[in-house]
Amino acid sequence: MTQLAPSPTADPSSTSSGDRSDGSTPPSADPASVALTDHHAAGPVRAMADDVTRLEAQPAPVIRLDGVDVYYSTFRAVKGVSIAFAPQRITALIGPSGCGKSTLLRTMNRMNDLIPGSRVEGSVLYHDVDLYGKDVDPVEVRRRIGMVFQKPNPFPKSIYDNVAFGPRINGYRGNVDELVESSLRRAALWNDVKDKLKASGLALSGGQQQRLCIARAIATSPDVILMDEPCSALDPRSTLQIEELMFDLKQNYTIVIVTHNMQQAARASDQTVFMNMADDRAGYVVEEAPTLEIFTNPKNQMTEDYVSGRFG
Ligand code: ADP
Repeated sequence: MTQLAPSPTADPSSTSSGDRSDGSTPPSADPASVALTDHHAAGPVRAMADDVTRLEAQPAPVIRLDGVDVYYSTFRAVKGVSIAFAPQRITALIGPSGCGKSTLLRTMNRMNDLIPGSRVEGSVLYHDVDLYGKDVDPVEVRRRIGMVFQKPNPFPKSIYDNVAFGPRINGYRGNVDELVESSLRRAALWNDVKDKLKASGLALSGGQQQRLCIARAIATSPDVILMDEPCSALDPRSTLQIEELMFDLKQNYTIVIVTHNMQQAARASDQTVFMNMADDRAGYVVEEAPTLEIFTNPKNQMTEDYVSGRFG
């Protein structure tokens, strides 16, 4: 069976990044965030040198889509998508309802395999391995590329067992107690639940349940976390907590989030991909750029109209 590349930055039992007790926001450790600064003000030679440095520093993408079409039986829901997702970045997928955002997200961890009649054409590479290669195990794919859904969906089990479940069925040989604690810490939930680990996951608030689902995803050592409108069922306070958590998590994970909430995309993501529907109803990428650019200086009129609320 094809080995998927290891996830060196994402071991949940190493340093914990969640549960900052002072509630502060850590500085970005992301070298590519320089793309958002106006370094050209320092003059053309300096700017050129900076650009060369930036190109050299560009890390290899974790996931790369190339010419991806996705079908549901004969209906082509997504067409011609080519995007690279860099490590330790948050990418937001935005666009009107039905333009294929969730479809594209599910394509990245083979969740669409579970939908009868769905088919992917083009290439989806994860650390340069073809995710749809015949030797690749979809269960292993979903372990490395975790997913958090719109509605928090803890298992009807204890908080502890929710987190321990995935590692146990994957034959985890380390200390499960430690793994549960470190995953809950990373999901900024440990302080809330450390005294009631045996209580049902369903007894938590909506925001806590969503963080439990993030802890559950983290526990299997993914290096990518896909989030499909993770805050749409949450109140504003829980939404902000999840956004803060995403900010922490991106130090160790690549995050792709589908959101209908423009403010969320603008606040929380580094990169934004705007999709729209063509006349044949297939979704396609209109524009992809650093988030600041998409919201302040988009190249395409359609993007401008969408982010300024004129349609969608
Ligand atoms: P978005 O997330 O942007 O709202 P979706 O990915 O959910 O868009 O849907 C894209 C298109 O694919 C829509 O036309 C939708 O009706 C269709 N679609 C989504 N899921 C399925 C499915 N399971 N079977 C058939 N068509 C689907």
